[in-house]
Amino acid sequence: MSALSTAAAPATPIVQYPRRVFDGWGYTSRSVSMFTKPTTVDEVRSALIHAGAEGYTVALRGAGRSYGDAAMNGGNLVVDLTSMRRVLAWDPATGIIDVEPGVTIEDLWRLCLKDGWWPAVVPGTMFPTIGGCAAMNIHGKNQFAMGGTGDQILDADLLTPAGELLRISRTENADFFHAAISGFGMLGTLTRIRLKLKHVESGRVSVEQACVRDLGEQLDYFEQHKGDSDYLVSWVDCIAGGSGLGRGQVHRAKYLHADEDPDGEALLEPSRQDLPATVMGVPRALVGAILGLFNFDLGMRVVNTTKYYSSLVSPTTPYKQPHVAFHFLLDYVTMRAAYQPGGFIQYQPFVPKEAAKQVFTDILKLNQSRGIVSYLGVIKRYRPDSFLLSHALDGYSIALDYPVTASNRQALWQMCYEMNEIVLAAGGKFYPAKDSVLRPQDFSRSFGQERLATFRALRHRADPGRVLRTEWAARVGVDEATETPMTAR
Ligand SMILES: Cc1cc2nc3c(=O)[nH]c(=O)nc-3n(C[C@H](O)[C@H](O)[C@H](O)COP(=O)(O)OP(=O)(O)OC[C@H]3O[C@@H](n4cnc5c(N)ncnc54)[C@H](O)[C@@H]3O)c2cc1C
Repeated sequence: MSALSTAAAPATPIVQYPRRVFDGWGYTSRSVSMFTKPTTVDEVRSALIHAGAEGYTVALRGAGRSYGDAAMNGGNLVVDLTSMRRVLAWDPATGIIDVEPGVTIEDLWRLCLKDGWWPAVVPGTMFPTIGGCAAMNIHGKNQFAMGGTGDQILDADLLTPAGELLRISRTENADFFHAAISGFGMLGTLTRIRLKLKHVESGRVSVEQACVRDLGEQLDYFEQHKGDSDYLVSWVDCIAGGSGLGRGQVHRAKYLHADEDPDGEALLEPSRQDLPATVMGVPRALVGAILGLFNFDLGMRVVNTTKYYSSLVSPTTPYKQPHVAFHFLLDYVTMRAAYQPGGFIQYQPFVPKEAAKQVFTDILKLNQSRGIVSYLGVIKRYRPDSFLLSHALDGYSIALDYPVTASNRQALWQMCYEMNEIVLAAGGKFYPAKDSVLRPQDFSRSFGQERLATFRALRHRADPGRVLRTEWAARVGVDEATETPMTAR
């Protein structure tokens, strides 16, 4: 493999790192770790070399927006990359930007939108770092059309625990490029990322909403409109049963040309995009707490039913919405506040399109029969991509949020194992950014022995001392898949 540099860090004395508690976003994983916040590539290199020399492991961490334990490393070191946040180059003529890994999605749009560029792939929140998005190969509501973050990346630098700095791209160290993107931080630190943004002529998108009466209508809508939509996403009422199983509301959006939205150019100004401070008159910070008052099965049945019936009478004519409001709805509402004190997990399987209707039906029915229902369900459409451990496939995901309590935890995990079986039998996949429940046998069936062997061989070259580790990677057996089932935590 060709390297940009192999310089070892100068010998330095043993470092005493401070400690603190780290959480997963869902609040169900929590552990104490040493941590450091490097500001340069050399500081990252020193941290990796020290860790290797002193016998502890390192987890890389961006903004900590993964739901479970993917960026955690209890008892060891967390390297927090949020202070490497410089934009290295921005070219408004081409929309190509070169950044350090701690630059966030928010940083990108705040800098680039006024020049007519929007990050081509964004998750449901603007706070993740580009490094964290690349490591997970995150997707947006347009994955079916644009692919994931990895598809927007032109090249990057990968610093391995052995101290090598590799330039990775589709033509240089291509095996590492395709594996580090989607490699959940286990092949090295992405210390620089160059990506291409999407040209936009308006600060708004045109949004259309449709009420769908069951799961079949949901998926038919996606199939009918994926050719003429830039974004598609649907909400699912997971509590309704019978003929209303899988009912909900789909949103589709399209970019607007300048002549379709004469006022849209003014909204390219970032200050015109800021989320309103209130939602229906309620301060944004309080919305999560207020939703928390409904955070029990009957309360959520009322919320979901009300939302469904109001969607029946919602206007179906397109309306214009600023990019930020359309994409970052979840930043309006601190949803996780609603799930205190036990937190929540998000279960998000990815299923081939031919099997999606049956798998989602089986999952929703299983949930209802167990009396453990998701309070929020979201469906998205995908296309396959070229990244080694990507979750992308030609099909659908359903993201299901479940509250976790002391009394439902065991039963919830058991039900997730049963859902894993349904998903795996249909050839489905899982996504480390959202996972809290995968066991080694699920992980290896999901990605397949061949891909895992390739990944492990690359890992052996990049990190022979196994310095990089996260609680998630250890839980699913990234280095050595075993067939030993783990008990519910
Ligand atoms: C409200 C909400 C909505 C979300 N919506 C979506 C969505 O629509 N689509 C989607 O795909 N995801 C979504 N996510 C998940 C989120 O996009 C991913 O978890 C993303 O990886 C978070 O980025 P981060 O900077 O917080 O990374 P972290 O969570 O801190 O880390 C993620 C992974 O990246 C590794 N890592 C971090 N930085 C680097 C680096 N520089 N080099 C190498 N490895 C690194 C870590 O070790 C870890 O494995 C959502 C999350 C939240 C909280």
